[in-house]
This record gives sequence, structure tokens and C-alpha cells, in this order.
Amino acid sequence: MVDDQFEELAPKIRAALAGIAGGGKLKFIVNTHWHGDHTGGNKVFGPEAPILAQTNVRRRLSSEQSVLGNKIPASPRQALPVITYDLSVSVHWNGEEIRIVHFPHGHTDGDSVVFFTGSNVVHAGDDFFADRFPFVDLGTGGSVQGLIDNVAKLLTMIPADAKVIPGHGALSTREDFKRFHAMLVETAGIVRRRMQAGESLAKMQAEGLPPAFDSWGKGFVDAKTWILTVHDSLSKPAAGGAGASHGR
Ligand SMILES: [Zn+2]
Repeated sequence: MVDDQFEELAPKIRAALAGIAGGGKLKFIVNTHWHGDHTGGNKVFGPEAPILAQTNVRRRLSSEQSVLGNKIPASPRQALPVITYDLSVSVHWNGEEIRIVHFPHGHTDGDSVVFFTGSNVVHAGDDFFADRFPFVDLGTGGSVQGLIDNVAKLLTMIPADAKVIPGHGALSTREDFKRFHAMLVETAGIVRRRMQAGESLAKMQAEGLPPAFDSWGKGFVDAKTWILTVHDSLSKPAAGGAGASHGR
């Protein structure tokens, strides 16, 4: 199972698992990153199957974190990943190699993408918000330029006919992911040019982005928030900023 959503959704997930061939017995759980909407079910499912995640996911779940000013308490022991890796790990199971690859400083500092190499399915975690501006967690090591670089790299790795699962949004294709990349490059470019021209954040937010990007702002992250995120990320001295606190 890749990600286990909020704890409250565990009964629904269990019901869905029961409908899968093999009786829905969990074998492995992967956390694509540490956020609660991807790891909240660890408490429930952790005792049933080993959880795999990048090293920084366990590190962050082990202590209190802060996202957009909200304090997120440390997870109990049974909710922590038990198999961690710095760069990548493969699970050989169900007749295929499932490659789990870490991508640095994109959405957070612990992102992984899961490649089901036999089934031709890629789970991109929150390095992909389908048709929406993404949330980039600058406070826990995320970076807009890092995300752009990661998505560019992923586009060279994902087969043209692969099914691409976003962290948020509907089941997608490589073409959808390519469109997401183009949006990131274009909007970050717009904000970068305005910053170089000395425009204030307030002015940029008041003017917004070209109408072509209107539909991208209809989700959790609107255009104003996206401009703020890009501005703040580009204002940091280097891509990444691991451990830097982003007091907002
Ligand atoms: Zn996330």
C-alpha cells in the first residue's frame, strides 16, 4: 500500500483492501513523505505490515513538526517506518520489481516516487498535484526549484503509456504530468522575473497570474498562495533549505 491517508479513513481503506485479490492482507506500506494525509493511517496499519520510507520521513515523524503554523505531534512508535533508505530501495513482490526512489527537496525533504515496473504504474506522491498548484512545504525542506528539477527528471523516467498517480487529484498520464511541469516552469519564471524587476510580493499577488492559469488555482492552493510560495522559495539562499523553519 502506498500511503495510508488520515487515521480516520482507516476503516474505509480496510474495506477497500478486503476487495483486493488475496484477501487484502497488507504486505508492505510505503510512505511517500511525512505529511499526515499520507501517514496518518500508520498508527493503525503499522502493526500489520512493515512501513518503508526515506530516512527523513522517520526523522520528521519522530519529533514534533510544524506546517503552516500548525504543530504536528510526534507519531507513536508503531506508526514509524521500520525500513528506511537514503536514496532508493526495491521490493520484489507480486511478480514485479517495485522501485522506491527518493527525490531530494521537492514537496518536502523526504519525498519518494514508487515505480511499479511490471504494471507500468508510477505513484508520484505529492511531487504531483494533478491540474492544481501544488503545496510545497518550505518549512520541512521543500523547494519550488527542487520540485521543478524532480518533475523534469521524472519525465525522463516515466514511460509514455504509464499510469501516473498524483498525491492529489485524479489518476493521470505522463502528458498530464508534463503539463504540470510546464505550469511550474512558467509560473516560477513569471514570479522570478517580477522579483528581479523589484516588484513587491503584495503587487504580484494583487495582479495575479495570467488567466491561462486560473483553473490551476481552484484547489487547496490558490494563485495568491502559489505566488507567495514561489516568492519565498526563490528568496531562500539555496534550493532546499533543509531544517530551516518557515515561521508562518
Ligand atoms: Zn504532502
